[in-house]
Amino acid sequence: MKIRLDSARFEPFVWQETVAIRAAQPAFEDGVGFSPIELHGTLEPVSPNFRLTARLSYRQTVPCARCLAPVEGEVESGFELLIVRARSERQGRPERPRKAERNAADGGERQLTEEDFGVLEVVDGTLDTAPVVEEQVQLNLPAYPLCREDCAGLCPRCGKNWNAGPCDCPAPAADPRWGGLAELRSKLTGSRAGE
Ligand SMILES: [Zn+2]
Ligand SMILES: [Zn+2]
Repeated sequence: MKIRLDSARFEPFVWQETVAIRAAQPAFEDGVGFSPIELHGTLEPVSPNFRLTARLSYRQTVPCARCLAPVEGEVESGFELLIVRARSERQGRPERPRKAERNAADGGERQLTEEDFGVLEVVDGTLDTAPVVEEQVQLNLPAYPLCREDCAGLCPRCGKNWNAGPCDCPAPAADPRWGGLAELRSKLTGSRAGE
């Protein structure tokens, strides 16, 4: 949806929409899919900028990192962004909000300020929500999804799913990198035996 910033100039603009994400694009790997994304958003004036607050809810399917079986899950997430007009379109002195520096020395709680939000520049005074939603959905993807905690994965040789039982492949040969160590050990035990 495209929203004119002016519609939130004097009071918050609240809306609801459904965004369809096309998973068939380079940003997403094979086997990734999404239900339509339900978005509840509020755009409010934070002069001279705007604050976008939104909640997303949808279902996602991602391949198990070990066996590639589809892993389905419900996602509920929220985000906030500071919306600023493109530099060239701003009137008066351009004043881009600086990201607050985060460091451990901060300690304790700090008040949440505009500097804590991500910043999105928009052109033509219009916020297009589709790319924003798409980015959030990408950020929400699990780094290492598993169909179950103890997923046994696939045999690297024959590709059989070990969750369905062992395959007939021979046990992997001993790692040759340990060969030297074994030799050393036999030498050591050998020399000790000779004493
Ligand atoms: Zn799995
Ligand atoms: Zn196998």
